[in-house]
Amino acid sequence: MEDILLIEPNYANKYPPLGLMKISTFHKMLDDCVVFAKGTLPEQLEGKKWDRVYLSTLFTFEWEETKKSIQYALTVVKDERMVFVGGIMATLMSELFIETFPTITLIKGLLNRDGTLGLRGEKCIDRLTLDYDILDDIDYKYPATDAYFLYMTRGCGMKCQFCAVQTLEPEYVPYISIRDQIAEVDKRFGPKRNLLLMDNNVLRSNQFDKIVDELIELGFGKGSTYPSPRTGKPLHRHIDFNQGLDAKLMTEHKAKRLGELAITPARIAFDHIEDAKQYKKALELCAKNGIKSLSNYILYNGEDFTGKGQYYHADTPQDLFVRMKISMDFCDALNDKYGNDGRVHIFSFPMKYMPLNATDRSFVGTNWNKKYLRAIQRMLIPTQGKGVSSRSFFKADFGTTVEEFIENLAMPEDLLGLRGHFVERSTETKEDREKRYAKWKVNHARIDEWTRLYRSLGDDYTSYVELVKDNDFSIDTYWQASTPTLRKMLIHNLSYLCILRNIEVLGTEILTYIKVEFPSLYSELLRYVIHSEHTQFSCLKGMLILQGTIFISDIIRAFIEEPYLTTNVFDALYKAQKELKKVVFDTRCLSTAIRYKVTNAISDSEFRNIMRLGLEADEKKIEMRLYKKYKQIRETLREQNQDEIQEGIKSPIEHNGFIPLESTLPHIMNG
Ligand code: SF4
Repeated sequence: MEDILLIEPNYANKYPPLGLMKISTFHKMLDDCVVFAKGTLPEQLEGKKWDRVYLSTLFTFEWEETKKSIQYALTVVKDERMVFVGGIMATLMSELFIETFPTITLIKGLLNRDGTLGLRGEKCIDRLTLDYDILDDIDYKYPATDAYFLYMTRGCGMKCQFCAVQTLEPEYVPYISIRDQIAEVDKRFGPKRNLLLMDNNVLRSNQFDKIVDELIELGFGKGSTYPSPRTGKPLHRHIDFNQGLDAKLMTEHKAKRLGELAITPARIAFDHIEDAKQYKKALELCAKNGIKSLSNYILYNGEDFTGKGQYYHADTPQDLFVRMKISMDFCDALNDKYGNDGRVHIFSFPMKYMPLNATDRSFVGTNWNKKYLRAIQRMLIPTQGKGVSSRSFFKADFGTTVEEFIENLAMPEDLLGLRGHFVERSTETKEDREKRYAKWKVNHARIDEWTRLYRSLGDDYTSYVELVKDNDFSIDTYWQASTPTLRKMLIHNLSYLCILRNIEVLGTEILTYIKVEFPSLYSELLRYVIHSEHTQFSCLKGMLILQGTIFISDIIRAFIEEPYLTTNVFDALYKAQKELKKVVFDTRCLSTAIRYKVTNAISDSEFRNIMRLGLEADEKKIEMRLYKKYKQIRETLREQNQDEIQEGIKSPIEHNGFIPLESTLPHIMNG
């Protein structure tokens, strides 16, 4: 009996690792002890040495996480040659693995032959039942587990240049019965509700009718149900050909047969704009045959490809928008024609193309750039991986026209995430709603301003795209902007901290822009420094150099308008002046006034009056005003302290983390 460890690297994965689940079944048949880990083992199993460690791999861009797991496996195995690494990436990039980890044993391709792992009595592991029990070994929860995960065909044969299937499954197998595997799962783990068929191209099978017949016989015909294990109520079952159905091979007969199944959704790839006609034809055949839940994969960021016997051009951002719009428009047309007994829904899933040998996610297609790719990721966040189906969402998120879509791709990422209508929340107070609305208005003013500038460029918008294409918004990029409009637009890509830190070098052109042309940004910068408890003096220096006391007055005015009693801006302002060796106003007295206010030693109106005196930059007047209150405050605080000491709790001064009042007024006391 051997100790077997199975590891899936610690990346997010929608489906459990089927290869490892089958290997587990085999080792359990040998009476071995099998444990499954996601990334690393839990603490209680640390220090144990394993006879064999199997590690699955998936996408090539997960190389870093995969490497970490192999390094870990090598530390927990008795003999380094007994680390077996297989799966998609191991097959596609075997040389990289061998070069990086020369002692491991690499398994290329499928485990569909006897003896692939060199084990005693080993049969074809690929046809074994999945061991669902191993999923209980880990805390990670796969989104899909209440399903049979099976293949009824293998391979594809369409030879699309960008696709890994021709390497992973070079031979097309037109039919694999799943009857026995389902019976075995039912016996060992109980029946599963859904069926996930991971076939690459089931429509190519010359035994397609046999496949459909078997699925119906196994209880996955249209409308079939399954009793809920919790309530016993019947639940609809679903079949999902999750790798998609090939539009080019969809025929009237096959669509009719698919319509006999509990298929939800029918996934049809729309990888290339050149396929629009056959894509629409496949959708129509599905809708006509009663398949109302449809979805697509829309590949973007691609290159020139060959496949399915033809040539495809590298896609453009415009193509992506058009393909999504075609789906949306065609969905409406299908509903007009076939929607009487239930509406047709099409969910679009844009999928970023990455080359088969990419070891990270940084690949940029010929007609794309990093900024646009980042924007797409941002636009897809609200969909939470569920695809785009509603037209109103599509219009609001992607745009109503191709031009608007391109404009959105160019928009600063922060602004992109702030678009959308103001939505009232029933749970919030009126005050909170007003605050949120005020913030929403400010954000939308920034979006409108950036849009105004962008549109003013006209056809020259490309000069802006040229600047932002690398998604690098450092000050160096700013210096490459050749016109005032471009410079103003770039400002909206910088964080407030970055603007403040660099305002001196950005100079009066930008200062005038943010104070005069678009003052809302200046107000936000003031708000930013006031509403931070940790304002750094270094980010105030540039404004002081450019504006001197005007900046100090602006901060005081903004503070009076919206006081924030835990600010440290006045101490930071003093420090910034000191650093510049030009203290024109010791703003620390305003910090002292804030402390008085926090302890309720002065009234609101007195506090405001003191702050207004700050506008005259006369700290003596302020100090005298505070000094007058000093005795009275000391008494109040003593009384408060006494009460609280009697109650056995901390004094409010200590409680608030303040230093004793006397020490906040050293210059007054000494004076
Ligand atoms: S049809 Fe699909 S599975 Fe087949 S090679 Fe092309 S992309 Fe790959």
